[in-house]
Amino acid sequence: MPPWQIGVFASVDAGLGVHLDVAKDLGIPTVQVHSPHAGTRTKAAADQFLGQCRSAGITVTCVFGGFEGESYADIATTARTVGLVPESTRSVRAAEMKEISDFTRLLGCDTVGMHIGFVPPDRASASYKGLLEVTRDLLDHIGKNGQKMHLETGQETADHLLEFIHDVDRTNLFINFDPANMILYGTGNPIDALKKVGHLVRSVHCKDAKWAPEPGRSQVWGSEVALGEGDVGMDLYLRTLKSVGYLGPLTIEREIAHDRDQQRKDIGTAAALLQRLRAEIL
Ligand code: MG
Repeated sequence: MPPWQIGVFASVDAGLGVHLDVAKDLGIPTVQVHSPHAGTRTKAAADQFLGQCRSAGITVTCVFGGFEGESYADIATTARTVGLVPESTRSVRAAEMKEISDFTRLLGCDTVGMHIGFVPPDRASASYKGLLEVTRDLLDHIGKNGQKMHLETGQETADHLLEFIHDVDRTNLFINFDPANMILYGTGNPIDALKKVGHLVRSVHCKDAKWAPEPGRSQVWGSEVALGEGDVGMDLYLRTLKSVGYLGPLTIEREIAHDRDQQRKDIGTAAALLQRLRAEIL
């Protein structure tokens, strides 16, 4: 695959992400996809989706897991509901993530991604240790499918993410770097974070955001904005990706599913911006 192929976050059955048609219409050659609901994770659904991708010349680069009951309403709700961290749903979701890995295999894709949740800060805590165990078991299943898993950044600092990946101690655990999330959650300067974790970055989101008034000290989100209009600094972001040796897809993420027309427009503008910067920087 050529370096820095443009991508977009899409969905199989209209979960998070844009419809495949948006990628097709804009001539975007790669997609990450949000995993479909359980009833749609079938061989027939995979074949149909793959057929659509093939006819549009689109490659699936990563399948993101997501679960019933997750809510990104505010930072506290996200911490309580997202990923494998919440203990009451941990084992059920780990089992579902294995099914998502199996579905990903049907799509001929070697990468699954997820928000694992807010990794507990205390490495000696029972919750942290339990999370390590369930993550190792999941990675072993994913490994049998010939796959790796990419953790989305943002819900913890770069340093704590590195500690967690070190403690999990598996060779198929990497990072999907999202610079805007670091800003949205107030977990650190995204460029500094990228320099720290760059050696583990195997996929990225191209997303932009503006800082909250008191980043890291309040439960208030920063705000996600169209690419190039926020505080990430796309030029510096791409130059830093180059400096850490990242040449994989540049996957655009624009999380305004309530306004599909604006979403499509913003993705078109983002793709043009990334193509221009790619020509300048690579
Ligand atoms: Mg993201």
